[in-house]
Amino acid sequence: MSGFRYVSYAQEVIFVPGSITRISEVLERFGWKKLLLCTNHSMQIEGHVDSLKSSLGEHLVAIFDRVQPHVQDIQVDQVLELAVEHEIDAIIGMGGGSPIGMAKAVAYTRKPSIPIIAIPTTYAGSEMTAVYGITHSRENPPRKVTVNDPKIAPRLVLYDPELTLDLPPEMTASTGINALAHCIEALYSKTRNPISAAAATNGVRHISNTLLRCYQNGKDLDARTEMLTGAHLAGLSLASVSMGLHHGLCHILGGTANIPHGIANSIILPHAIRFNADLTAPQLLPAAQAMGISFNGDSPKVAIEAMAQKIFDLVGQMNLPQRLREAGVNLKESDLPDLAQIAFQNPTVQNNPKPITEPAQIEMLLRAAW
Ligand code: NAD
Repeated sequence: MSGFRYVSYAQEVIFVPGSITRISEVLERFGWKKLLLCTNHSMQIEGHVDSLKSSLGEHLVAIFDRVQPHVQDIQVDQVLELAVEHEIDAIIGMGGGSPIGMAKAVAYTRKPSIPIIAIPTTYAGSEMTAVYGITHSRENPPRKVTVNDPKIAPRLVLYDPELTLDLPPEMTASTGINALAHCIEALYSKTRNPISAAAATNGVRHISNTLLRCYQNGKDLDARTEMLTGAHLAGLSLASVSMGLHHGLCHILGGTANIPHGIANSIILPHAIRFNADLTAPQLLPAAQAMGISFNGDSPKVAIEAMAQKIFDLVGQMNLPQRLREAGVNLKESDLPDLAQIAFQNPTVQNNPKPITEPAQIEMLLRAAW
């Protein structure tokens, strides 16, 4: 890599346990008076919506609490109507990548656009990025497209580790591996830069230290705090680089084979690491060391193989599927050549650091993951 270029965003990030109970003090500084909250039912059940309500008082003028996965266009229209009706001046997304994506979609679609406040409760990392995906469900077949613009980056990001204490073990594990994958692909990204590399390496260290602990005991606030720090660093690294084969493939496996995003990440990550290792082992070496793998000067590829195996084992320890055939969807081994063909056309897959010149390379990876 010679030279680098990246875009950074004007964002205030606050990371404090219990911070949502003091959100109104922060908002006063920004001068936002009328806020709309996008969230989903689990946040109501866990009482987080009530905490926000009591903290924001009359400034919380509307709540949309039934955000579905993957930002549906029909729901965006409904929330936009609420935004116009209540003349809001900022929008909050609280929850995983889906409610935060909904807040981004509404804020960006409204003209003029409005600022976004993101309060993440999973490790998906959307809060740090200037991207959202939207599903055009009125089209046949429905199509998910991504929108990318610096205006989409949340202006205020509030991390409150206490909100993650209820995150169920499977969501903890799968969104945690998603965060780890952001770090790995950021490290070998074609557009990597010194900030993304530093954030990604430290992200791997925190995630590797704590993900299993969070899975085993979700109420461990120290582990949850360090894990959320790792997820923040993963999101920060993701925000300024382009992704490659792993990410592109996970989107295809989600969109075409219906495999949930975190599960696809858990299955594919060790294989994507191995696939790229000839070319990317030097960039991944700091991640392997951050995961506690010793390197005594032999080929970095040996350490990277040990890292791939360690991630595979971690996925198994957290009872996530380790193979595509265990993903619990209606996918057959005979579907793999077609999936490889589709993936071969995907621009993110084609943005991989190691060139992919024929679908057979992807098919081999998918067969190894089968
Ligand atoms: P999600 O937002 O769809 O949430 C999944 C489930 O977890 C929901 O049922 C939710 O109720 C539950 N949940 C979330 N937090 C909880 C908590 N603290 N306690 C109990 N239950 C909780 O899932 P996700 O994996 O966070 O996000 C996935 C979506 O985000 C996908 O659409 C993906 O494409 C998108 N994404 C976007 C970016 C980006 O940069 N734009 C990055 C990562 C993911």
